[in-house]
Amino acid sequence: MKSYHALVTEIMRDVQRLRAEAGGSPCPTNCFECCRNTATMAISEVEARDLKVGLEALPPQIRSHIRQKAAQTIKVLKAHGYTAENITPDSGMEAIGVIKGTLEGECPMLIGGVCAVYEHRPVICRVWGYPLHNGNELACCHKTFIGQRQRFQPLNYTRYWRECRNLSRELGATQKTPNCYLVARLLSE
Ligand code: SF4
Ligand code: SF4
Repeated sequence: MKSYHALVTEIMRDVQRLRAEAGGSPCPTNCFECCRNTATMAISEVEARDLKVGLEALPPQIRSHIRQKAAQTIKVLKAHGYTAENITPDSGMEAIGVIKGTLEGECPMLIGGVCAVYEHRPVICRVWGYPLHNGNELACCHKTFIGQRQRFQPLNYTRYWRECRNLSRELGATQKTPNCYLVARLLSE
């Protein structure tokens, strides 16, 4: 986990650099739109290990609430024929379609508009909102850096993700896990 924490430190430094160049946080106050429709987002094993630390530090009633949210999402996905295994190949992109815009589509760790595991959130949650180098594409939240994405050196998300994949392999995991199934697993271990 030492290498993962070093990666998180590097990401925070890169984000801070972009934030300073942009003159502050690019997100409107109280916006948490990007935590909606993330119930099936793919999370790597090394990120999961850190997430587990955050989940275990929560009061029992919050953990219980998160567990219930994840279970409800899994129930709805199951009714549509989805499982953790058949969601994985496209990183949950198709499956989210059946719960998009509903409570079940929300990240189970979003409680009252706040991330319950903020200090331990996955990498994508740390960088979304800033211009990202993702493969051959420049990605960014549709609400931020409008008309000025090319002006900034993007965050190297491709490298962050590769590092997470390599560290996860060292932990013996080759597959990512969709968010709600991962949270249910971590809270039952
Ligand atoms: S882990 Fe936190 S920041 Fe990431 S989607 Fe869930 S609630 Fe949002
Ligand atoms: S990244 Fe986009 S959706 Fe997420 S908080 Fe910022 S502005 Fe809102």
